Amino acid sequence: MSYSPDDSIQYVRGVGPKRAKYFKKLGIETVKDILFYYPRDYLSTVTDKSISELKINETVSLKAKVTSKNNVYRKYRKSIFQVVVSDGTGYIYCIWFNASKWLREQFEEGKEIIVRGKLQFYGKKLSIIHPDVEFLNKEKKRSFWSERDYLPVYNLTEGLSNKLLRKVIHNIFERGFEIEETLPEYLREQQNLLPVYKALKLIHMPSSQQDIKRARRRFVFEELFFVELMLARKKKDWSRKKGNSLVLKKTLTTQLKNKLPFALTFAQKKVIREIVDDMKSPYQMNRLLQGDVGSGKTIVAIFAMLLAVENGFQAAIMAPTEILAQQHYLSLKDYLKNFDVKLSLLLGGNYKDKKKILKNIKSGKCDIIVGTHSLIQKNVEFDSLGLIVIDEQHRFGVMQRKTLIQKGQTPDKLVMSATPIPRSLALTIYGDLEVSVIDELPPNRKTVYTNWINSDKREEVIDFLQKKIEEGRQVFIVCPLVEESEKSDLKAATSTYKKLKQGTFSEFEVDLLHGKMKNEKKDKIMHEFSRGNIDVLVATTVIEVGIDVPNATIMMIEHAERFGLSQLHQLRGRVGRGKYKSYCVLVAYEPISETGLKRLNTMRKTNDGFEIAEVDLEIRGPGEFFGTEQSGIPHFKIANIIRDKEILEEAREYAFYIIDKDYELISEKNKELRKKYRQNYLEKEKLFSF
Ligand code: ADP
Ligand code: MG
Repeated sequence: MSYSPDDSIQYVRGVGPKRAKYFKKLGIETVKDILFYYPRDYLSTVTDKSISELKINETVSLKAKVTSKNNVYRKYRKSIFQVVVSDGTGYIYCIWFNASKWLREQFEEGKEIIVRGKLQFYGKKLSIIHPDVEFLNKEKKRSFWSERDYLPVYNLTEGLSNKLLRKVIHNIFERGFEIEETLPEYLREQQNLLPVYKALKLIHMPSSQQDIKRARRRFVFEELFFVELMLARKKKDWSRKKGNSLVLKKTLTTQLKNKLPFALTFAQKKVIREIVDDMKSPYQMNRLLQGDVGSGKTIVAIFAMLLAVENGFQAAIMAPTEILAQQHYLSLKDYLKNFDVKLSLLLGGNYKDKKKILKNIKSGKCDIIVGTHSLIQKNVEFDSLGLIVIDEQHRFGVMQRKTLIQKGQTPDKLVMSATPIPRSLALTIYGDLEVSVIDELPPNRKTVYTNWINSDKREEVIDFLQKKIEEGRQVFIVCPLVEESEKSDLKAATSTYKKLKQGTFSEFEVDLLHGKMKNEKKDKIMHEFSRGNIDVLVATTVIEVGIDVPNATIMMIEHAERFGLSQLHQLRGRVGRGKYKSYCVLVAYEPISETGLKRLNTMRKTNDGFEIAEVDLEIRGPGEFFGTEQSGIPHFKIANIIRDKEILEEAREYAFYIIDKDYELISEKNKELRKKYRQNYLEKEKLFSF
């Protein structure tokens, strides 16, 4: 009798109660679970290259013999286990850190193995660090797997081996199983996708690269497709939500236009038009505004807010930190000087005036309210909130955003992102929103000349800074920490500040800025710096979202190898804002990791935030990209939105096409989709952006 998908894994041949417990740790409880437990990789005995022909940085899979092994203990009880393998044309070192005794015992001189991994230099030796290994056991009788050219490799846990997983999966195929098709035939045909049984077979037991590719395509497409169905449905929902039809009264908006000290860029005009059109329509706006650092998003948001206000509504802007909120408040105050618009800033905690501010928000006396999470507190009530602007959307949770929206009257929503988001990521997390992109910087922006140097050349940089300060320019020095600590020897802001002030820069005004200071003190220092009263500002990353000082033309970043790419880019965005040539010098300290090097080189190569974001996404992966947990990025089992970009685009286009025709998935030909959607996705719709 064949297996049914819900059969417990315990009763599959080769498992039993003890192993079932280990399987459970991997989330595998049923036959279906293990069938959809995709291999993370494959070991292949098919090689067309010998060791002598391999190139560095290549991912290789090859058959070789163990020629020697040894285990070296290092300081702090770390050990390095080395196995040398050869195929007769050359040698490769396989390296493990802290290898288990069990692993070490597996290797015997003369044994034939398959190794797979990325070839690199470790020390001066051609090595693979933590390779995947398969032992080829000659004596044993031939089995299904011993004949195969491609062996699947799974993510494992203690108590389970690849061999066991392969055996169990093979047993299931031997006995046979029932499995439900989840993609309609017409769809599979049009999108060139394998049926589910065939795809499962090929993903676990491929005979060629082509098999792997076709099987992956089926599952990657399906995974992305269902998420995109959800996005398509949400987007349709939003677009049908009744809102306020505003009228471009040209009172406040025109007043601002006439008062601007600069001409709007073409891109700014374009996105303002998109926003105004949305707000005029009888439906609610749901728009994401993207643009690189310094592309001028603030002024666009201000236009939107003034449009709401000239229609008698209130507008609120919510930022994730107090510094950011304060900065928005100050910009608004500056732009709207002499306007008949009442602004207020609402921060957390209790302070003088807070009661009065809350009262004014409730009575409608305040027109534009800038705030942090404080805006969503219970005691905050609005009179007629018509527009919500959320800065750095991904730093807020779904419930927080919803709470704010519920305080409004069918408000329009504008979400801003200070981090440029690569297209593939935007399609998966903001795919339900309309998107406006400011893809042009104001004309006076100069590219910041960027270089990175090794710390032994730091003195030369200091000389250069000195020269520039003597010419009248100002300098930022960014450090990764506030205080030096025993645990690390990273340069800290406080000690760097002291050293410079007492030593090299004693004739200049040097000051210090970090997040542990009181707000008033921070404000005062920022203010002094922007007035030109401070020559050198030593700071932590608090200046990331800080100030706009055209005369500050140089930024030196200590331990640049430690910073994330997007963060480096944001920091660099603080210079290059005036008429002088600007510089960003990244000082790197050994050891510099491979990804560290990639970040440094990317910074040197480009000033384009979107390009940088792409590389950052590639290095860190979607989950870490924003550095927060609340970002709402769907978890994919097999799809990789960077590698599978093309499939993503195809799946998206097709999903939108289907939802457009059959929103409820009620047509007979979509019955498979309807079933899976109801089971797995309908509930998730609730977790969406708004
Ligand atoms: P971001 O998109 O990073 O939030 P901002 O809105 O803070 O950028 O704008 C950066 C700076 O550019 C501000 O000082 C702003 O006054 C200025 N700015 C914005 N738009 C223009 C423009 N069209 N021409 C010149 N300067 C501009
Ligand atoms: Mg901004």
